[in-house]
Amino acid sequence: MEAMAVSRGLASAVRFDGVASSASSCSSSSSSSCVPALVSYSGLKRINAGVSKVVRELRVAPAGARGGVRGLRVEAAAVNGAPQSFDYDVVIIGAGVGGHGAALHAVEKGLKTAIVEGDVVGGTCVNRGCVPSKALLAVSGRMRELRDEHHLKALGIQVAAAEYDRQAVADHANNLATKIRGNLTNSMKAIGVDILTGVGSVVAPQVVKYGRIGFADKTITARDIIIATGSVPFVPPGIEVDGKTVFTSDHALKLEWIPEWIAIVGSGYIGLEFSDVYTALGSEVTFIEALDGLMPGFDPEIGKLAQRILINPRKIDYHVGVLAKKITPAKNGKPVQIELVDTKTKEVKETLEVDAALIATGRSPFTKGLGLEKVNVVTQRGFVPVDERMQVLDAEGNKVPNLFCIGDANGKMMLAHAASAQGISVIEQIAGRDNVLNHNSVPAACFTHPEISMVGLTEPQARALAEKEGFKVSVAKTSFKANTKALAENEGDGLAKMIYRPDTGEILGVHILGLHAADLIHEASNAIAMGNTIKDIKFAVHAHPTLSEVLDELFKSAHLEDHAVVSEKAAEPVAV
Ligand SMILES: Cc1cc2nc3c(=O)[nH]c(=O)nc-3n(C[C@H](O)[C@H](O)[C@H](O)COP(=O)(O)OP(=O)(O)OC[C@H]3O[C@@H](n4cnc5c(N)ncnc54)[C@H](O)[C@@H]3O)c2cc1C
Repeated sequence: MEAMAVSRGLASAVRFDGVASSASSCSSSSSSSCVPALVSYSGLKRINAGVSKVVRELRVAPAGARGGVRGLRVEAAAVNGAPQSFDYDVVIIGAGVGGHGAALHAVEKGLKTAIVEGDVVGGTCVNRGCVPSKALLAVSGRMRELRDEHHLKALGIQVAAAEYDRQAVADHANNLATKIRGNLTNSMKAIGVDILTGVGSVVAPQVVKYGRIGFADKTITARDIIIATGSVPFVPPGIEVDGKTVFTSDHALKLEWIPEWIAIVGSGYIGLEFSDVYTALGSEVTFIEALDGLMPGFDPEIGKLAQRILINPRKIDYHVGVLAKKITPAKNGKPVQIELVDTKTKEVKETLEVDAALIATGRSPFTKGLGLEKVNVVTQRGFVPVDERMQVLDAEGNKVPNLFCIGDANGKMMLAHAASAQGISVIEQIAGRDNVLNHNSVPAACFTHPEISMVGLTEPQARALAEKEGFKVSVAKTSFKANTKALAENEGDGLAKMIYRPDTGEILGVHILGLHAADLIHEASNAIAMGNTIKDIKFAVHAHPTLSEVLDELFKSAHLEDHAVVSEKAAEPVAV
């Protein structure tokens, strides 16, 4: 199941079409943004006193499921000549959401923690991803609503033509990123995480070097090292990015201009979200998709419905089964040129001329220069190989003691909350409690209008697994058209779909397209995470009228065989 989780859903949409070996620079932001950190070196060597001492004792004594492993790790460090007293319990390389989540949890567990950041705190999500994109999507949602005369008329509302101020919209996105970056930084400083500025690398087992251009490198030791260096946009060969007319999401989020006609190369969730923004702000969009259909990462039925709701009624056309082989930025009065070739035959199909092209063809792990070769680790297409506990594996497939990798850099599931959850899971292990994150329970969402969300397997994945393992699969569906709250909002377009085992009541996957789908998915993802069956949750009561009743209906409409199980806890009657 774990292996399937890696290549499913939005995670696969992010990296569906080839992930480059590695990127060539620290991040898309200029290195000039690497500002001196408030680094306090005083007393670093003394930190193994106090709380850390308690932790160290805990670790030497076998504790929890990894107790035996802990013992081995201490021994291994001595054999390798690695340091035996440490500046830190944990050093994290990369202060994106993954590193941040790990750092906060590490301090909560009493671990002396440092985080090394080569650019700005917050990484992709905060500065160039989730946060600014959701600010733009908030605007696109409102613009869409205010310009939808039919929708407003149905509600009895009249408004004058809605307009927007591009620079103010861009400022909203930028200000939000700045605010969240500040929050993240403060949350770490407040609890005593040392934020060390510079590009970090592993120089030996349990030893990290970091430094800034023009300054001498510094070396620190840590009992455990977590790599959380994230990813950068993947640009296929033949595409010339100038950052003005041919650009990636890094540039697009700055919203420097609104092209009249923009080609979006790649129809994964990033491309789809940008199509929502651009069409709401007045652009015409052409999708270029290498695979045979749009939105290849989604459950096919949801993909079909998304096409009907999010593509067909909008100023969007598309070319599928074609590669953008060559893209030349606009220059000398000529527009952007895009040479399309057939994905299979590689025959040239046509050349498009557009005002701009957004390259949304996935993300590459950012793992170059990390010094992994010094600990015998060979990356796979740039991704750091890890086991199910995020422990790094060496070239022979053996665990590298005291070295973990979380987030986009390991490619298991390239989403912000997955990165953070992996970080927390690693810290749990370091603190002596075994923990394996069930990636099948990690939800994903695409914040279009309406939204799409999912957790677990798609229907084809579930059917393939069922055939292999010999069980039956059933599908339940409910429509937003039957939901009072959705109808009150005049937002009845949408579907929720659950794939499940009728014999056991196990939920295999849930997919939602509709108003607030990104919030609704958590009832299903929590159920999967807690191991609840449909029988456990179908009697749960939902407030009326709420959108959550869409899921209530979904669970109730499942047809279970008589012997389908109720988990022990849920079966007990509770007296009140
Ligand atoms: C446009 C866009 C929208 C997105 N929207 C969503 C969304 O809505 N929801 C969602 O869940 N995900 C979303 N994502 C994906 C999400 O941003 C990533 O999955 C997430 O940021 C990964 O977190 P991370 O901590 O692994 O890496 P990152 O956030 O990339 O952070 C890595 C950090 O490490 C630093 N670093 C790298 N190398 C070194 C080094 N050697 N030394 C020191 N520091 C280093 C980098 O500067 C960076 O700060 C979006 C991505 C994009 C591009």
